[in-house]
Amino acid sequence: MGEFEDLRQEIDELNFQMLDLLSRRAGIVSEIGRLKREKGYDEYDPARESTMLKRLLEKNPGPFPDEIIIKLFKEIFQASMVFQQEEKKESLKVSRKYKEEDTVVKIDDVEIGKGRPHIIAGPCSVESLEQLDETAAFLKKEGVRILRGGAYKPRTSPYSFQGLREKGLELLKEVKEKYGMLVITEVLRCQDVEKVSEVADILQIGARNMYNYELLKEVGLTKKPVMLKRAFMATLEEFLFSAEYIISGGNHNIILCERGIRTFERWTRNTLDISAIPILKIESHLPVIVDISHSTGRRDLATTMGKAAIAAGADGVMVEVHPNPAVALSDGDQQLNFQQFSEFAEAIKKA
Ligand code: PEP
Ligand code: MN
Repeated sequence: MGEFEDLRQEIDELNFQMLDLLSRRAGIVSEIGRLKREKGYDEYDPARESTMLKRLLEKNPGPFPDEIIIKLFKEIFQASMVFQQEEKKESLKVSRKYKEEDTVVKIDDVEIGKGRPHIIAGPCSVESLEQLDETAAFLKKEGVRILRGGAYKPRTSPYSFQGLREKGLELLKEVKEKYGMLVITEVLRCQDVEKVSEVADILQIGARNMYNYELLKEVGLTKKPVMLKRAFMATLEEFLFSAEYIISGGNHNIILCERGIRTFERWTRNTLDISAIPILKIESHLPVIVDISHSTGRRDLATTMGKAAIAAGADGVMVEVHPNPAVALSDGDQQLNFQQFSEFAEAIKKA
């Protein structure tokens, strides 16, 4: 057997040389990818790949037939693409690979993304001073620090209640000052960002606006904390790209909100994607809140899903609460009354 030793050594040497060449190639591919990303170009160039394959076949000295050469090089091209995709992920500022430690969104003494899970609660829509005041007084007593309430409502039907708009903002301001609570409310349009920011401690970008890149850029230019909700049909990758729009403008105070996605299921309003919570926590450093109300649309599931969200690693939950859900101007079926909220909060505290 010793007679083949030299040849074997030669093969080993060639393998090492090929490994070295492949690594050098990967380094160059990575550099080109970085330059292309900087300029906003698409990294994958299928035309270049097929031209290269043709040129390789023209130069094929044998003994490998063309099909084998194509197969081998396609494998090499493919490996570089996978590797570039990983690098692209790493380069996203919302990515855990970019920043390892958890982001904590701090508003006064409230820290979202650190320690005990938070409960954000309040009515779906701001309807009147009485309704908001009564809800805030109750929630304050329950220890809730962040009050929700929509002034501008994105409704499926244009004939449904659209919110009290400016008047709603005024009521939120009045009640927040009276009870010393923080307020989260939705902003629907770029031109309202400044006005809503005067009242809101957290700007909510609703599910319908997750793809509104101009609005994302606009809130990215502020320093206001933003809670970005996942669109009904968004993949988690798309969701994180939307968050990237905000962070790339300089605003790092982002909270992600899983609020259920649309599936074929009819017995819930949406399907709460529980697996999104640990995935988002693995892929990103941003805090994750779960909207218990819009995700299932069922108040009888609120406590169970709230506990599930906390168990899956959520930094908090958001839930709709109304003094009398039966007469609510929006989402009456899913809002909790005060008694139901107390039971819900008790279960979440124990979770
Ligand atoms: C809301 O939270 O008020 C709301 C409208 O929810 P979504 O954007 O998730 O539908
Ligand atoms: Mn609602």
